[in-house]
Amino acid sequence: MISCEKILRTVHIDKIRIGFQAYQDGDFLSSIYLPLASARGFLLSKAHGVYIMKEHKIIAVASGSIAQELELTAGDVLLSINGQEINDILDYRWHMAEENLLIEIKKPDNEIWELEVEKDSDEELGLTFAFMSSDRRCTNNCIFCFVDQQPPGLRDSLYIKDDDPYQSFALGNYITLTNLRDVEIDQIIKHRLSPIRISVHSANMELRQMMMGNKKARELFKILDRFHKANLEMHFQVVLCKGINDGYQLDFTIGLLQPLGKSLAIVPVGLTCHRESLYPLEGFTREDAINVIMQVEGWQSQLKDSDGGKFVFLSDEWYVLAGLPVPAYNAYEDFPQLDNGVGMMALFENEFLEEVKKGQKTTPKKIGIITGQAAGDFIYKLAKVFTESFPDITIDIHVIRNDFYGHEVTVSGLITGRDIIAQLKGKVSGLTALFIPENAFRKGTHDMLCGTTLEEVSEALGVNAIIGSSHGGELCNQMRIVSRN
Ligand code: SF4
Repeated sequence: MISCEKILRTVHIDKIRIGFQAYQDGDFLSSIYLPLASARGFLLSKAHGVYIMKEHKIIAVASGSIAQELELTAGDVLLSINGQEINDILDYRWHMAEENLLIEIKKPDNEIWELEVEKDSDEELGLTFAFMSSDRRCTNNCIFCFVDQQPPGLRDSLYIKDDDPYQSFALGNYITLTNLRDVEIDQIIKHRLSPIRISVHSANMELRQMMMGNKKARELFKILDRFHKANLEMHFQVVLCKGINDGYQLDFTIGLLQPLGKSLAIVPVGLTCHRESLYPLEGFTREDAINVIMQVEGWQSQLKDSDGGKFVFLSDEWYVLAGLPVPAYNAYEDFPQLDNGVGMMALFENEFLEEVKKGQKTTPKKIGIITGQAAGDFIYKLAKVFTESFPDITIDIHVIRNDFYGHEVTVSGLITGRDIIAQLKGKVSGLTALFIPENAFRKGTHDMLCGTTLEEVSEALGVNAIIGSSHGGELCNQMRIVSRN
């Protein structure tokens, strides 16, 4: 006689299927899946050896990640890790701290894959799940908020102000701690969810409150002290606003944060041309950038001498603005603030040059690379190295002016499809491929900030547009691949 001893799986979100493993005299026979409606007659209780496991649909796979290497894609379903079901972000983070993982995945055709992964304990798989986003919204009203500077008419998600601790652990986003309840702080400490990335902006609590438009901003150090006592690793960021939290205020902030955290990134405020009726802010000039670099590099030498780590780092934009070369690769220690654009150019260059050395046979081709104004010279330099190694290849660099957000915005991550089409229509021909920087797309998608897709750019320009990796080695490899066929 066949008895149903164990329910296997349920499907995420609104649809539930229930699977049974069928046993006869203790021997496994087969798995059976039933839609919920058909399964209602079964008594769902542990007393009957029946329980429901959660499944989690993958909604995005990061480019260059372990998950991509494993050929996982959006739409696959995570069933378990190391034989354990995953209930929520806390479970997921817990398992990510392991170095050896056995991941069970269901592909869209119901095929089950078991994948063994060996990784560093702080390495991510590069998967995004729906459970990584909750509805936690920001309760601040920052004077420099980028969301407030978006033009009207974009997709709804671009107007959402997230400040979600769970996304911070899952995706590395920065959070402000102003909307955390005590019970959540307890949970973070209990589950040792670390590293934590925190937007500080100022260690002067009156100034922090003013900059963030929120009284709760004043409670920062109470929470930081608790995390510090619990030995959680903290990384901080400061969005520097001219005449507000710079100068001696910045010295005060660096001095107070240094004993508590692992690193601090200083990034310049981003100002678009859509700031009507917002707090008046001024962009940094070349001279300002030079002063900030001198100030922060002074701190770096002092801190390095005292305990061996620099702690405070400047984003690459400061050096571009100052017209100075970015520091060398080994100046960034273990690159603790890459997501803030700190050391990105040095790392990119290093990886690119390593990959170029590998050589390869190519056939005559012309390829195009799109970049923002800030990285224009940098990309020219790398393209020159590439064409010296592969003389068959011609590279056209297209520096896109940011008409969409305003000409003060020069970073490649804010290039829009609309600007690319408007500025390149009829001007690109005979290209084997046109590379558009990966950071100009919503993570794991083909959508650009203005809502234009990669496919729309391809069609409008009549070229093969490709998402060019944010990793130097991978971009070089992509260029070699299109150059050899
Ligand atoms: S924390 Fe400040 S900058 Fe971030 S979304 Fe909220 S208001 Fe905007």
